[in-house]
Amino acid sequence: MSFSDFVRILGHLLRGRFRLFQCYTNVNWRTCEACLSWHGRIVARPEDFPAHNGCPHELLAFPVWRLGEHRRQGERMKKKAMEELERREKWRRAAALLTTDPSTALALFQEAVQIDVYLPEVEELVEKKRAWLKENPAVSAELRRILAAGWKAKFAKERYERQPERARTAQERFGLVRLQELFS
Ligand SMILES: [Zn+2]
Repeated sequence: MSFSDFVRILGHLLRGRFRLFQCYTNVNWRTCEACLSWHGRIVARPEDFPAHNGCPHELLAFPVWRLGEHRRQGERMKKKAMEELERREKWRRAAALLTTDPSTALALFQEAVQIDVYLPEVEELVEKKRAWLKENPAVSAELRRILAAGWKAKFAKERYERQPERARTAQERFGLVRLQELFS
C-alpha cells in the first residue's frame, strides 16, 4: 500500500466510513458524456453518483481498506471512458468528411474501429450516405472492409472472452451478416 493510499484510508476511517463505492457506467456509443465522466470514480455515498436513469449504471461497494486497488481500477476505467469519447470524435469527423475527403475519412474510420465498432452507428451512417456509397463503389468496398475488420477485432478482444464461446460467435456472425446486408 502506498503512503498516499494509507493517508486516504485513514482519513475515511476517521470519518467513520468503512465502505466506499465505485461508479460504473456502461461504456458504449449511447452513454452520455456526463455519465462517462463518472466511470471509475469513487464516492463516499451512493447518492453522490448523479447517473441518469437512461444510462445503465451500477455502484460497487468495497471496504475502505481496498481503496488503493480501486483507485487504480478507476484509472483504467477512466482511460476507457476517454477512449470512447475519442472514438466518437473520430467517427463523427470521418462521417462528416466521407463525401468530400474520402481518404481522410477512411483513415479516421480505421482509427475509430480500432477502439470499438457499434452496429447502430454503422446503420445510421450507411442509411445517410447510401446514394453516395452506391456511386463510389471503391470507397464503399474499403469502408466495408474496415468495418468488418473492426467488428472481428472487437470480438477478439479480451473482454469478450469472458462470454460463452457460442454466444460470442453468434454475435460476431450476426454483425458480419448485417454489414454485408448494409453494403449490398
Ligand atoms: Zn447519462
